[in-house]
Amino acid sequence: MSNKTGKLFIISGPSGVGKGTLREIALKKFQNLVYSISCTTRKPREGEQDGVQYRFISHEKFEEYIQKNLFLEYAHVHSGFYGTLKQDVINALNAGQNVLLEIDVQGALQVLEKMPEAILIFVVPPSLEVLEQRLINRHTEGPEELKIRLANARKELALKDQYKYVLVNDDLEKAAEELKKIFENEQ
Ligand code: 5GP
Repeated sequence: MSNKTGKLFIISGPSGVGKGTLREIALKKFQNLVYSISCTTRKPREGEQDGVQYRFISHEKFEEYIQKNLFLEYAHVHSGFYGTLKQDVINALNAGQNVLLEIDVQGALQVLEKMPEAILIFVVPPSLEVLEQRLINRHTEGPEELKIRLANARKELALKDQYKYVLVNDDLEKAAEELKKIFENEQ
């Protein structure tokens, strides 16, 4: 166990911007970086497994966790509730590990209030048109959910100035390189 506390990195950005891919790259590249698996009430997509992408829990369970004050942050995003378990993050940080959260803007700002040392990174698309096309192409949402996600993208983009770093994901390799620089800069 290290006696140095780890750092908390938060990645946010609109749905379809490529946060998940950048997260995977960061986790592969940086040894002392762990991902905190969120809880959600949304249903698993095809191929998703409980405890891997998310902890898929019921509304009742989510409500229970809120009552027990187990969340570092939680929010209603698109069509479900999502939350980060406090203990997971604190244990990893205390063990000297750097922690990565991939959460929405509402959640990131809640964490920033409690932990002002958190490093916030916002990923933006080159344009809203490109984002819409990426969302359509990935075929994971129906038309209604797509509409919700695009409307939320506009709202989220308006809050990007609250973040320390804004990363444009135009070209994935370049964005990954930028992300690497941010991590190096902050270590
Ligand atoms: P998806 O349903 O596409 O996996 O995720 C939808 C959104 O929820 C994404 O913007 C993602 O960053 C956000 N999200 C995932 N986990 C959490 C969490 O624990 N807390 C908050 N506030 N947002 C989350």
